[in-house]
This record gives sequence, structure tokens and C-alpha cells, in this order.
Amino acid sequence: MLKRAGLRPTRQRVALGGLLFGDEHRHVTADELHLEAIDAGIPLSLATVYNTLSQFDEAGLIRKVCVNGGKAYYDTDAGDHHHFYIEAEDRIIDIPPGRISVDGLPKPPPGYVITKVDVVIRLERVGAKA
Ligand SMILES: [Zn+2]
Repeated sequence: MLKRAGLRPTRQRVALGGLLFGDEHRHVTADELHLEAIDAGIPLSLATVYNTLSQFDEAGLIRKVCVNGGKAYYDTDAGDHHHFYIEAEDRIIDIPPGRISVDGLPKPPPGYVITKVDVVIRLERVGAKA
């Protein structure tokens, strides 16, 4: 998988890839993945985890989904889809494909093109503000 994406299969990339790519699509933060690595006995620094996730993102293996405050989740489903964000539970979940259509997009400033539209819909539990 790494080789197909044009990445040299270093020890760190193989180890983190093994944690990331299981049977199901996942949304993880760098911190969560770092803790998983430590739990699995893989001694990697948080910086290495960030760097490796960025490389995976650039290679198109995963995609970075940003929510508020610059917090980023890494999504092992690199395809086009949108997300619900549940801040109180610190997680994002997929919105089923085809449920959102975005139209009436503004014209980008001169010299720019729109590459992608990410929709994040924030949720809270019913009655959470009671
Ligand atoms: Zn997703």
C-alpha cells in the first residue's frame, strides 16, 4: 500500500499504517494514534506521528479533516464525504454519501480555484444545554 502511494516503507510508516488501516474506516487524532502506538509497544514520538500522518495525507492514503481550533482528525477513508462533529464526545462521524449537496459556491478570489469542499456539521445531544 505504501509503495503504491509512492512512499518508502520505513519502519515507522509500516507500524503506523498497521494501526491505522484495519477492517474499518477510522477517524483518529495524532494524539490518539500516538497513544495507540505506545500501547502497542511502538516507541514513536508525537512529532513522528504528526509527520507520518502528513506524509500519508499528501500521498492521498488518508485525508485530514479540520474542525474548530485547528484540531485535526485523520480519516482513513480518503474519498469525498462529509462529517458530523460531536464536540462533547470529541469525535467525528461520516455523513452518508449523497446526503449533502453544496451549491451556490462563491467565486474564489482571482488566481485561485476551489479544490474541495468539506462540510462539518456540529452536533450536541438533545437537551445538552438544559
Ligand atoms: Zn470520514
